[in-house]
Amino acid sequence: MKTALLTHADCLGHVTPTGHPERVARLEHVLHALEPLDLNRVTAPLAADDDLRRIHPESYIRDIRDALPAEGFARLDPDTFMSPGSLDAAYRAAGAAVRAVDMVLGGEAPNAFCAIRPPGHHAETDTAMGFCLFGNPALAAKHALEHHGLDRVAVLDFDVHHGNGTQDLLWDEPRALVITSQQMPLWPGTGRPDETGAHGNVLNLPLAPGTGGAEMRAVWRDRAFPRLRSFRPELIVISAGFDAHRDDPLANLNWETEDFAWLTAEICALAGELCQGRIVSTLEGGYDLNALAAATRAHVEELMKAAR
Ligand SMILES: [Zn+2]
Repeated sequence: MKTALLTHADCLGHVTPTGHPERVARLEHVLHALEPLDLNRVTAPLAADDDLRRIHPESYIRDIRDALPAEGFARLDPDTFMSPGSLDAAYRAAGAAVRAVDMVLGGEAPNAFCAIRPPGHHAETDTAMGFCLFGNPALAAKHALEHHGLDRVAVLDFDVHHGNGTQDLLWDEPRALVITSQQMPLWPGTGRPDETGAHGNVLNLPLAPGTGGAEMRAVWRDRAFPRLRSFRPELIVISAGFDAHRDDPLANLNWETEDFAWLTAEICALAGELCQGRIVSTLEGGYDLNALAAATRAHVEELMKAAR
């Protein structure tokens, strides 16, 4: 079976103001890079509000709907904008995460990558921030737990920014283990090691500016993977940001494309050992277009190798 690629043209309809780093061209570059690959291409559905209510209160979902501008932009916070196409994009992004879980847990795909925007890991329970509207990776985890009845889901986040939203949404969820590495100090400022979740279910791994591939690999190998192994997840959700790349303009880590390939391959090996290889990966950040495209392709190629 092939790795599934879930996306939708609506995700290109989420427009941000000129000069904004989270721009349409990001997804265009990602899709172009994935074009030659032999993937099971799936049209992402719209999420249902019942899905979104697993992570956000009805009042927040209504606020997002009500914020949609008829033209131009609505500014939700200093960094987070909506254009007329943003609501459909956000519902497709969340819908991709849900559908990917259904496919992987239903045996339709061994693993899946969601090429989506807006990203999701900064969206908190009732706060849009950091370019994110709905918490796509936390939604994937909750859907697996509550709809499919799993007992343990791990969310691994290697975006250079702390996944404060995922942490917030899963803080009090003992069935979810959140492991996240991030540059520190860096926006949004959270992600200290003493942020451990209500049930000790969050592991924060801050990395100093300048951290390169060798140090990153040691941290994930020595800190993250033993924890993941002892948790024994039944599904692994990856919050796949590629802005720890050395060329990224928003941060100062020094990962190379092959570091993303290494990390993905290691996660795939653990998934093979622990949960029949079941992985759902969702696109987060990455703001140098060429680095983003190359690292995303390397990530998806590792998922494909594991699917064979
Ligand atoms: Zn990021």
